[in-house]
Amino acid sequence: MPSENNHKERRMNTPVKPAIEKGLFHTPFWLVPEKDVFAARAVRFQELAQAEKSEWRLYLELLAALCNAQAVVAARHDIALPKLNTGETVLPEAFQGNVPSEFFAVFTGLIAEMDGKTNHTAAAELGRLKKLDRSEAEALAQRVLTENTADTDRAAEIWVQAALQIVWTAWAAQLGEDDVPPVEERVLCPCCGTEAVGSVILIRGDLAGFRYMHCPLCNSRWNALRAKCPTCGDAGNVRIWQFDQKATPDLAPAYTAAHAESCKSCHSYRKLYRLDEQQYADPVADDLATLGLDMAVGEEGFGRGGTNPFLLLGA
Ligand SMILES: [Zn+2]
Ligand SMILES: [Zn+2]
Repeated sequence: MPSENNHKERRMNTPVKPAIEKGLFHTPFWLVPEKDVFAARAVRFQELAQAEKSEWRLYLELLAALCNAQAVVAARHDIALPKLNTGETVLPEAFQGNVPSEFFAVFTGLIAEMDGKTNHTAAAELGRLKKLDRSEAEALAQRVLTENTADTDRAAEIWVQAALQIVWTAWAAQLGEDDVPPVEERVLCPCCGTEAVGSVILIRGDLAGFRYMHCPLCNSRWNALRAKCPTCGDAGNVRIWQFDQKATPDLAPAYTAAHAESCKSCHSYRKLYRLDEQQYADPVADDLATLGLDMAVGEEGFGRGGTNPFLLLGA
C-alpha cells in the first residue's frame, strides 16, 4: 500500500509566459528532446535491470539493448523536418496514422542492429519482421499509430514503436522553442499529440522544481503546473502517492523518485519522477521499473493516464 506523501507538494505559481516575453526568469513552455535521449535511456534501463530481482529484469535488459540500437540507428539517419503545422500539433499528429517515408529504412535498420542481441523469442519475432516488405511494414506501423493493432501484432509493437520514436524524436530535435507556442492542453504533446507517459520535476538550473510532461513518442517535454491535475485542470483534489520507504525497505531505488499523482475529480492518475531523488530517472524507463505503484494506486480506484510504448499488456 502506498502512503499518501506527507510532504505537501510545493506550489509553483509561476505562470507560463508566451515566447515573446522572454526575460531573465523565462520558463520555457517546451523543451527540445535531450540529444542523447536514447543512449541515456539505455543506460537507465540497464541500471534498473540490475536493481530488479525478478525475471522482469530480462525484459528491462532487452529494452536497454533496444534503446542502444535506437541511438545507433538514429545517428545514422538524417531525417528531414516536414512542413510544420499551425493551430494544431506542430509535427504530423501520430494518431492520424500517416507513416513517415523514413520509417521503413529506420525500422529495418533497427531490426538489423538488434541481430544477436536478444533472446530466442525476440529473435524469432525479429526474424518474422525482417521478412515484411515495405507496404506490410508500413501497414503495421499505421495500425500501431492509430491504435488499431490486432492480437497478432502485439509482439511486433515494441519494435515498431521504437522505430517511430526515432523518426518523431529526430523531427522534434530540429524544432526551436518558438516553433512550439504554449497551449492550454497539458496532457497531449504539443508536437505530436501523443499522451504524456508521465512527468518529471527538474533539478537543472533555473528550471529546478518545475514540472514537465514527457512525450513517449517524440521525447519533447512541456511545462505543466504542479498544483493542478494535468488531465482535468482541477487543483483541489490532487494527491501524491508514494511507497513508504521505511515500511518496505527492499523497494528498488527507482521507487524513491516515482510518485503517482491522482485526481479525485477525474479519477485518473499519472506518474511523476523527482529528479532530485533519482537524477537519471526517465519517464519511459522508470515507469517500467515501478509498476507496483500502478497496481497500488489502481486498487485505490484511479485509472492510469498515458501509456508506455514498451509496456506489453497481456503479453
Ligand atoms: Zn510528442
Ligand atoms: Zn483530474
